[in-house]
Formats: sequence, C-alpha cells, structure tokens
Amino acid sequence: MKKVIIVGGGFAGRAVLSIIYGYRKKLDLEITLVNDKNESSFLPLLPDCLGRGVRTENLICDLTRLNIKGNFDFVRDKVVAIDLDKKVVATSALSLNYDFLIIASGSETNFYGREEIRRNVFKLDDANDAIAIRRALVKENYDFYLIAGGGYTGIEVATNLRLYLDKKGLKQRVIVVERASSILGPLPQWMKDYVISNLNKCNIEVLNNIVIDKTEESFVQLSDGSIFKNALLVWAAGVKTASFIENLRVEKNAQGRIKVDDYLRLDDSCFVVGDAALFAQNNNFLRMAVQFAIMQGDCVAKNIVRIIKGKPLTRYKPIDFGYIIPMANNKACGTILGMNIKGFFPIILHYFMCIFRSNGLKNKLGIIKDLLKGG
Ligand SMILES: Cc1cc2nc3c(=O)[nH]c(=O)nc-3n(C[C@H](O)[C@H](O)[C@H](O)COP(=O)(O)OP(=O)(O)OC[C@H]3O[C@@H](n4cnc5c(N)ncnc54)[C@H](O)[C@@H]3O)c2cc1C
Repeated sequence: MKKVIIVGGGFAGRAVLSIIYGYRKKLDLEITLVNDKNESSFLPLLPDCLGRGVRTENLICDLTRLNIKGNFDFVRDKVVAIDLDKKVVATSALSLNYDFLIIASGSETNFYGREEIRRNVFKLDDANDAIAIRRALVKENYDFYLIAGGGYTGIEVATNLRLYLDKKGLKQRVIVVERASSILGPLPQWMKDYVISNLNKCNIEVLNNIVIDKTEESFVQLSDGSIFKNALLVWAAGVKTASFIENLRVEKNAQGRIKVDDYLRLDDSCFVVGDAALFAQNNNFLRMAVQFAIMQGDCVAKNIVRIIKGKPLTRYKPIDFGYIIPMANNKACGTILGMNIKGFFPIILHYFMCIFRSNGLKNKLGIIKDLLKGG
C-alpha cells in the first residue's frame, strides 16, 4: 500500500484528490487530505461578499462532505512541520508517514511580522474573514474606509466597499494606501490608467508612496503623518505561504513559495502545487491563480499514478488563459488569450469563470442568484 498525503483542500489539493481518488483501489492507495479547517472558501468572490451581496454560504466547499463514502481520510488539523528525509508530516496532534506528499497549502495574508497590525485590521483569507468585515460594516458607522495594498485584491475590496456605501447612501472616504509609486505593481500601464480612472469615477482615493505606520482599534496613522480615527482598515498588502514552509530548508522566494522543477517536484516523493509552488517559465515565475492551481493539481496526480505504474513523468506545461481585474461598478480590464480587454465584457467573463469553477450546483445557482439580486 502507498500512502498519499495531500496538505490543503483548496483548488490545487482538491484537483489532486479528484484524480488520485479514482485509483485508490486499483493502485492500493491510502489517501489522506489534511486541511486546517473543515471547509475551503472560493477566494475570488470574497470581495463580492462586501458590496455585491454574494453570500458566503455559496462560497463554501465542505471538505467533510467530500468524504461521504469514507474512501479517504480527512484530517482536520494544521500541518506544523514536514520532515522530507524521514517522509513525515506533523500536524498539531498527529505524525503521518507518506510515500507521496503533495503540498497544496496555498497562501495567506502577510503581516510582515507586525503583530499590532494583525490584531487591529481586517483581512480576506476565507469566508469567515468576509463575514467579519460584513458584520463590522453593518454594526459600525465608520468615518473612513482604508485598504492597505493596491493589488488586485485591494482594488476589488475598495470598489466593493464603495458599492456598499453607495447602497446605503453614504459618502465616506474610501482610500487605497499603496507603498509603491503606483498601484498594480508590474501590470501594463494601460491597465493601471484604466483602473485609476475608474477608481476616480468611483470617488476612491489612491495614496502612493505611503505606508501604514501605526494601527490601533479603529485608528490608522500613515507614514505622511495623516491620522484616521473611527476607520476600518482592510489589509491586502501581500501574501505569504503557510508557516510550516518557513522551516523547510529548500529554495524559496520572499513570499515563501517553494521552487519546484519542471514536474512540480521538490524531491522524488514530494510535489508542490498552487500558490505554494514557485514555477519558472520564460525567465519569470507563474503568478498565483486558480487556473494554475487546478492544472498543477491535475498534472501531479497523473504523475503520481505514472510513477506507481513505472511510466515516465510528463512535464507541467502551463496554459495561461489570462487574467481580469474586476471592479464592483461593473468595469474590468485584463488580458484574455493574449487580447487586451476592458469595460463590461471582462466582468461577464470573470463571473462566468467564477461560477464555472465554484463547487457544486447549489453554490453555482446561489452565486448566480446573489449576483442577479445584487445584495
Ligand atoms: C480575495 C482573493 C481574490 C482572488 N481572486 C482571484 C481571481 O479572481 N482569479 C484567480 O485566478 N485567482 C484569484 N485569487 C487567487 C486564488 O484564489 C489562489 O491562487 C488559489 O486559491 C490558490 O489555490 P491553492 O489550492 O494553492 O490554495 P487555496 O485555495 O488557498 O487552498 C489552500 C488550503 O490549504 C489550507 N491550509 C493552509 N495552511 C495549512 C496548514 N498549515 N495545514 C493544513 N491546511 C492548510 C487552507 O485552509 C486552504 O483550504 C484570489 C485570492 C484572494 C485571496
């Protein structure tokens, strides 16, 4: 019997499971999925829970229900360490041996070690975080709405907060605070121009070359000295991989993504997929995205089957369909199949892909209903 452990039940981990599961009897596999929560959230629609009224219940994949026939083990626990030499995964409570390990633990908000920020701000890592922000919006009347970080997530959150306020007839300031000289980092200038002009139209301010200096509960001080009292701050200023990866003595980038080879391997028994993997392509590295997580999971599962059958491995060849930056006033821009697009059409594409990739018919129909209703 071969023991296969999948760490993380997000897009990549479930893609591995959905294939490898079919071989459990034929290849005599003992499969264990380890996830730190009972459920996994559909992350791309979390910002839409704030403004568009998408309900978090439609974004949940209940991992305990995947195992209804009991054909694999589900361990709800946090992985705290991995010993690659001894082939052991340590969770808070268990020690698990493996023949094949797939690290699919994704990424989480990076507070860059600043504990006071972690305590005082909101983040958007899962459905519970979206619920917490939504509750705060309903309960408190904030005077300011700040978003740290002008990347994809920060822009989506800012436009959704503006939409929420518009629906309530409120005019409070929504401000994106960006430490770099422009939002959206390495993206092409035309996209930045389009997004900035749309943010202006939505009355969302962007402060460049500014960082968050100090936070207390509902209090924010910026590096230019400005002070915001009674403020809500959502931290979208970067991500990092899971903490257990920090202790792995392997090649990683600043975000802790693990450098993998052409087959997404770290060694002969360990594969890394999704956000946790740093895959080089054309002198660059693949960005974090759902499409890559799913396709990498698929590739690794098939390669594990090949190894057991004694067949040669196939290389992971990424296919990039493109990306879209959706904004809550129904404007978006992006690149799809090499074509630059902007306006309303990319919004349709974005939600079509989200519905297509969301988990199960109930969630799909729920998302469609929520989007049509508009919260
Ligand atoms: C707000 C937001 C919006 C986004 N929008 C888009 C978008 O529009 N399009 C797009 O392509 N991508 C988008 N992304 C990125 C995309 O969601 C990720 O690239 C994708 O989720 C990566 O899949 P994954 O399987 O690697 O990780 P995840 O889907 O994050 O799954 C990781 C799983 O591992 C579990 N886990 C983590 N640490 C541990 C541990 N120590 N022990 C056990 N389990 C653990 C987590 O609970 C989680 O279930 C967005 C991300 C965010 C946060």
